[in-house]
Amino acid sequence: MRRSLTEESALAIDIGGTKLAAGVIAADGRMLAAERLVTPPVFQVLEDVCRRVLKASGTDVIGIGVGSGGPMRYPEGVVSPLNIVSPSKVPLWRDFPLRARLAEAFDRPVVVDNDAKALALGERWQGAGRGSDNMLGMVVSTGVGGGIILGGQLLHGFAGNSGHVGHIIVWPNGPLCGCGARGCVEGVSSGSGLARRLTEALASGATTSLPPGSTAVDIAAAARQGDALASELFRTAGEGVGRGIASAAALLDLELVVIGGSIALQAWDLLGPPLEATLHATARRRPTRLSVARPFGTLELSRRVDP
Ligand SMILES: [Zn+2]
Repeated sequence: MRRSLTEESALAIDIGGTKLAAGVIAADGRMLAAERLVTPPVFQVLEDVCRRVLKASGTDVIGIGVGSGGPMRYPEGVVSPLNIVSPSKVPLWRDFPLRARLAEAFDRPVVVDNDAKALALGERWQGAGRGSDNMLGMVVSTGVGGGIILGGQLLHGFAGNSGHVGHIIVWPNGPLCGCGARGCVEGVSSGSGLARRLTEALASGATTSLPPGSTAVDIAAAARQGDALASELFRTAGEGVGRGIASAAALLDLELVVIGGSIALQAWDLLGPPLEATLHATARRRPTRLSVARPFGTLELSRRVDP
């Protein structure tokens, strides 16, 4: 007997550093019910929000898919997300058996994967990556991450962390990254990287309207009001992402790059122009298209191609 669409729904969970979202998604991509909380994810809170959206959707689900910050062990779904800390900055989950706990609570098959890999799959299915079998989905947010689809398949790599474009080096001996290296895309261009770079600039006596402790949102606001240091931080951030994309595109022969994440979506006016200029200047051989995930729609970037 053919099952109806709603019988083939799935529960989707997004676990970020400061937010938690759960939704019931039909097989055709419709969101039947969803809820989003601004809170560090404690398991009981997560279980409660899942039960609420399942009830609100009025349907059953055949499985559960989770996108979470890394690192994690895939496919075991044991997570230690670096970006999830309590208000007192204490890491909340270390080696947390998220997949096993959800399977136990809901008695359904559970897949737990990196949030940027989940974004790549989601954008290819319903978003700006539709129809592309060779694409990079990229998140520029508190951190910088990515997921690679090549030949129609999501790459996992040795330990499930394939596609981590955030740690491509784009600035030799550049700003310190949370991973311990210098000059990673994440250290230069992420929300945490921008805040850290501002702190370093203030310590070295830079002139700016920004007080110590300013966030990436504050830096963006200052840049829009003409603060020279804030503008410089975003210009170099955009260049860093552009160099990272150029390297990834050359390595992987990408057709498309889709960018999402809070920094990209809320500050594309600042990040986008230097990013696109860098991409035009550095990636010459292949016509890779660049798209920005919703809510900005698809932005076509026709790249220069060598004759
Ligand atoms: Zn790094």
